[in-house]
Amino acid sequence: LQQEVFDIHDSIQTSVSRFQSLYAKRRIHFELEFEESPCLVFGDRSKINQVLNNYVSNAVFFLNDKNKIRIRTGIAGNTLRVSVHNTGPHIPEEELEPIWTSFYKVDKARTRGEGGTGLGLSIVKQIMNLHQMHFGAANVEDGVEFWFELPLYDEKR
Ligand code: ADP
Repeated sequence: LQQEVFDIHDSIQTSVSRFQSLYAKRRIHFELEFEESPCLVFGDRSKINQVLNNYVSNAVFFLNDKNKIRIRTGIAGNTLRVSVHNTGPHIPEEELEPIWTSFYKVDKARTRGEGGTGLGLSIVKQIMNLHQMHFGAANVEDGVEFWFELPLYDEKR
């Protein structure tokens, strides 16, 4: 890991902007709910970018016609949590664990077919384990939410 202090909001903006052309075309309603900026965290910036890109591209892929993606940052104690929510199909409870394993592909309706590698989330898991930080996925009312945590940078320490 090459850890450094960086602004997670910058990374999220960059990740989101990679899909900019799609938003207008598919009328995706994008919401960002951010804590105060800048929001400094400690981690491997390029690996965290991979995590974000993975979550965001899956959110775009699995989006249903409610077309809503919401990315939130929230602070609890000295931890920052990033969550990426999309409206779309739920993930069956028994699949919430195995989706983090390499090449795990669930029923055809919810894989990315040729476009998907079945590797993305296993890389996320690896990256978050290297950081020794928590991550996860949950079904929420109208879709799913994928999240991860990072330590906040505290300049007083
Ligand atoms: P893939 O490249 O096949 O998308 P991932 O590792 O990124 O592989 O995801 C593994 C599986 O987790 C997907 O095939 C899909 O079944 C499920 N999944 C990931 N993100 C979402 C999401 N936003 N909504 C519903 N299912 C998802």
